Amino acid sequence: MQAKLRAAVLRPLTIVCLGLVGLGVQAHEPGAHVHGQAVLRVVVDGNTLSAELESPLDNILGYEHAPGTAQEQQAVKLAVIALRKPGILLPTPAAQCTLQKVSLASAALTPAMLGEAGPATPPAADEPGHADLDGEFSWQCAQPEFLHSLRVDLFLAFPRLHRMQVEVAGPKGQSATTLTESHRTVQW
Ligand SMILES: [Zn+2]
Repeated sequence: MQAKLRAAVLRPLTIVCLGLVGLGVQAHEPGAHVHGQAVLRVVVDGNTLSAELESPLDNILGYEHAPGTAQEQQAVKLAVIALRKPGILLPTPAAQCTLQKVSLASAALTPAMLGEAGPATPPAADEPGHADLDGEFSWQCAQPEFLHSLRVDLFLAFPRLHRMQVEVAGPKGQSATTLTESHRTVQW
């Protein structure tokens, strides 16, 4: 327990991207590009569950440019495997949800690097020097009446990720919560 507390205190300070410094408080709004943080938008619609991830690429790879070295290329390969692995986002098991689709996109990576079909060049970056990783995940659930949570194990796969703002639009309306490595499950 004490070791865990110490680890939390010693976590590297969140790096606010230089491009946002001039915008003041906007750096803390959901969707802003802040290293260490990400946004997840969850929608529950009948037996369909979907989640949209928006994360600085730094959280995923430790860099935000086109991969050059063999080490950087390997980081992309491992990250894509992790992101496409069923269970990295885990719906309530009793709801018997099956992962149907994962779509990944980034301004720093070609679709082919992400396992997607598409043009040979990545889309343009919103901010020079920075890039996001955008992911779309969807499930079909055989027992949607039992669907009331999503566990986010992205924190385990990507230790540079420290906070996630989660917005849920579900059967009981909309809610928002913040997840961390030690509190990884959003409920609705
Ligand atoms: Zn950045």
